[in-house]
Amino acid sequence: MQSSDSNLASPLTVLNGVGPALAIKLERLNLNRVEDLLFLLPLRYEDRTQLVRIGALQAGNRCLITGEVLLAETVYRGRRNLLVRMSDGSGQITLRFFHFSRQQQAQFQPGVRLTCFGEARKGATGLEMIHPEYRVLRENQDAAINDTLTAIYPATEGVQQGRLRNLTDQALRLMQQHPPEELLPQPVRDRLGLPELVDAILYLHRPPADADVTSMLAGTHPCQQRLAFEELLAHYMSLRSLRALAQTEDARPLANGITEVDSFIKSLPFVLTGAQRRVVDEILSDLSQAHPMMRLIQGDVGSGKTVVAAIACLKAVACGVQAAIMAPTELLAEQHWRSFGDWFRPLGIEPAWLSGSQRAAARREALASIADGSASVVVGTHALFQEGVEFQDLALVVIDEQHRFGVHQRVALREKGVGEGSYPHQLVMTATPIPRTLAMAAYADLDTSIIDELPPGREPVSTIAVPETRREEIVARVREACQSGQQAYWVCPLIEESDVLDYEAATASYEMLTEALPELRVGLVHGRMRPAEKERGMQAFKDGTIQLLVATTVIEVGVDVGNASLMIIENAERMGLSQLHQLRGRVGRGTTQSHCVLLYKPPLGQLARSRLAVLRDTNDGFLVAQRDLELRGPGELLGTRQTGLPDYRIANLVRDAELMPGVQLAAESIIRDTPRVGAAIVRRWLGDAGRYGKV
Ligand code: ADP
Ligand code: MG
Repeated sequence: MQSSDSNLASPLTVLNGVGPALAIKLERLNLNRVEDLLFLLPLRYEDRTQLVRIGALQAGNRCLITGEVLLAETVYRGRRNLLVRMSDGSGQITLRFFHFSRQQQAQFQPGVRLTCFGEARKGATGLEMIHPEYRVLRENQDAAINDTLTAIYPATEGVQQGRLRNLTDQALRLMQQHPPEELLPQPVRDRLGLPELVDAILYLHRPPADADVTSMLAGTHPCQQRLAFEELLAHYMSLRSLRALAQTEDARPLANGITEVDSFIKSLPFVLTGAQRRVVDEILSDLSQAHPMMRLIQGDVGSGKTVVAAIACLKAVACGVQAAIMAPTELLAEQHWRSFGDWFRPLGIEPAWLSGSQRAAARREALASIADGSASVVVGTHALFQEGVEFQDLALVVIDEQHRFGVHQRVALREKGVGEGSYPHQLVMTATPIPRTLAMAAYADLDTSIIDELPPGREPVSTIAVPETRREEIVARVREACQSGQQAYWVCPLIEESDVLDYEAATASYEMLTEALPELRVGLVHGRMRPAEKERGMQAFKDGTIQLLVATTVIEVGVDVGNASLMIIENAERMGLSQLHQLRGRVGRGTTQSHCVLLYKPPLGQLARSRLAVLRDTNDGFLVAQRDLELRGPGELLGTRQTGLPDYRIANLVRDAELMPGVQLAAESIIRDTPRVGAAIVRRWLGDAGRYGKV
């Protein structure tokens, strides 16, 4: 029996029937407290609110029927089948079981009354139900008709639907005894036509027979929107509070060094684009403040973010403090290190290098120079922010390709550079442009700048999709391009979770291509190589020693070789649109017309076909992202793994995108008028531990 002081915050073990073993299984569904059950929404519903006459049944109907057993027999159809013929007077149907016990078999005596739920299908001799749920009725017992639709929950191994229904029943009862506080202000609910929390939860778990199931399946029912809205609000307010916190924190104002920055910009071999100039100004103005900058730069591949980061770093150095830039891969970090070296060396600044795979002596030396401040600019991978790295006076942190790091990492980094109650300025950069509503949700803690202009003279990459059956033709095209002095990439598929298979695929392609193209200098770069080897391979490609570079997707970010004008991508149908767009951004950096060939394994499904068509039709990263979002959902676009975008329990950023402007408005008024309510909403959805940081 539930003890009387159990409430929604109690552990699930207060519910009848939940012992330690079941509790562990439920944990796999992220169910820990009674309240969590309320937010575990059904995937779909079944209608057991009415009996359907067997005579009126049609194939495809999933429904409840009742009737009398006429005959039960086992037959052999390759294996043993138990067939039970049943009638309700209006018609007959066969129940078919492939697995059954002797005891079950004995139940189905002629004259026994049953009630069954299942899907009617066309069988050899009329309609059938295969393995229906059924119950034997006692004499005079009526078929149990439900008065609400039956919820079907997301299943976890070893937890049956019946069990989940029983547990949610108990949780719903507890909810009615101890209703959770209604946290959404009435005016907000009224404005958006959203029901109260308790009503919404009850409705979604136990909808009435006449509920609008179509909108519930689409996730657009007001009751679902009600919950999604509050969840989005919780995440949004949590991130906003981080930003508000930054406004109260101290940072070193970096106001000097204007002349140094100006003459650096003049010394560059190119003129900054208008967009770069605008973003630089925004950054310089942020840096001069006494509160930490928290700014995101969004800019398509090739829009020139690196030099903008370099200018920010130079500003810090000119003010006598340290700046660090972190990139997600060794390759990219090394490339930045090289660019920064080229740009800064004339000014007497030698950037330090720190990476995970560095030799001990080099690492010691780097650590020492970082600690004593002789290294004013430090470039590296996430090794930069690991234990044992002490900065003397870190005042600016730049994170490149932020989408590869999570929001939690971003927040953790903020804490890292802290010394003497002063926070570093933070600049994060991403080449995965995301639609505005999504950016609102994902980057609510940041100010945003957009570099929406490419350097002049760039020809858009022309893209085609070709079945891999035409591989020979494509190989011939590579030969032609390389013999006319251009260079090409051949990108091999990323094999999820396995850099061994990745490596094998790349090696196989490498062997195929060296054999097919003996007249070309072919190189290979993959993720399992030591950084120095990779570096040599890339360098050889960069200086033209290698004409065709076979690579895994390690080259995805940042690699910069102007003379490369052809890219072949194998198994393109398996890759994300944004990733393909990133890869494609490796060509089209010079002034010759570049081409990208997406090789796919036929036959292509409808979705894959439209996805590849997006790349063929546009070179605009924002459009690609928008279409990717529509076609696949935000988890994949931002890749929950890579994005740090939290896992939402109920909200879905594509489906619920139009809620975001309302979320933003509501958040403002709640934060201003009733901060206690705001904190309670954040706690309800994110818990105490799940927050983005101190809130
Ligand atoms: P991304 O935004 O993808 O990181 P990069 O910073 O790597 O782009 O820049 C791509 C290339 O464009 C680099 O070779 C860089 O030196 C060059 N570049 C950057 N800004 C300009 C500009 N204003 N004019 C011409 N070339 C530029
Ligand atoms: Mg870059």
